[in-house]
Amino acid sequence: MKDFAGKIAVITGGGTGMGRELARQLVAEGCNVAMCDVSADAMAETKRLCEVEKLPQGLRVTTHVADVSIEDQLKRFRDELAEQQATDKIHLLFNNAGIGGGGSLFTNTREQWERTFNICWGGVYLGVRTFLPMLLKSDEGHIINTSSVNGFWASVGMGVSHTAYSAAKFAVKGFTEALINDLRLNAPHIKCSVVMPGHIGTSIVSNSRKVQSGTESDRLNPNEILQARQRLQGMGTNTSAMSDEDIQNIALDRARTFRDEAPMTAAAAA
Ligand code: NAD
Repeated sequence: MKDFAGKIAVITGGGTGMGRELARQLVAEGCNVAMCDVSADAMAETKRLCEVEKLPQGLRVTTHVADVSIEDQLKRFRDELAEQQATDKIHLLFNNAGIGGGGSLFTNTREQWERTFNICWGGVYLGVRTFLPMLLKSDEGHIINTSSVNGFWASVGMGVSHTAYSAAKFAVKGFTEALINDLRLNAPHIKCSVVMPGHIGTSIVSNSRKVQSGTESDRLNPNEILQARQRLQGMGTNTSAMSDEDIQNIALDRARTFRDEAPMTAAAAA
């Protein structure tokens, strides 16, 4: 899709980060935007940054509080947008909402694991289910699903594992590949793609560390420090003289380096 002027885009997770930036860029190109997020305040800021007061008359930016893991809330979002944007069709669906911090199977509860999975994967599936009928009504449409470099391979940063997150992001990639086939057969005017970003310094990165360690600081918990120490030993490093603080610093350093280098490494592996 090259020309967005006058089209209608749906963005999930439009309150911050990539959803916010896409909203701004689409609006700048004359596209109507309907976004959802769990945070009304964050969406209000996105809307302000879209500089709605400068929009040509008739162009709309609407915000809708909805949790993408809850189908009834997505349906309410769809009904509200149909009314407020005065349309029964959309052209672009960006399934972007996500959280980090599903963490390790060893440190997190089943509830934490399922929450990450239900938002990062379930939100994409429910987004497609909810909005496909509106896409089908347009002459051309595009679905973009957000996976991650963690959907290429599960990251094993020192002491930082992302079990639920990786499982969800692999599922998004697999689902998208199957959906592309499905659309080719049943609705060839609707295209679909998956984006697999590497590390981008948005709030999801800082939040995931907080959730994972169960604290409000950017630090590893004792279990993670132990895992990091074992991994270092497994790599031939003598850690006996290292304090937990030393391990902590090395682990976080390597985790950051890993995240920065992951896209290149994944591309090389492919
Ligand atoms: P972000 O935290 O800035 O944005 C995510 C947005 O989703 C937030 O506004 C948040 O409030 C919203 N959100 C969270 N849970 C929600 C829910 N249940 N329902 C509706 N909205 C919800 O992070 P981002 O980096 O912009 O992330 C966007 C997408 O990109 C995510 O799917 C993330 O997994 C993916 N991603 C990010 C990175 C990165 O390094 N930042 C890397 C790979 C993939």
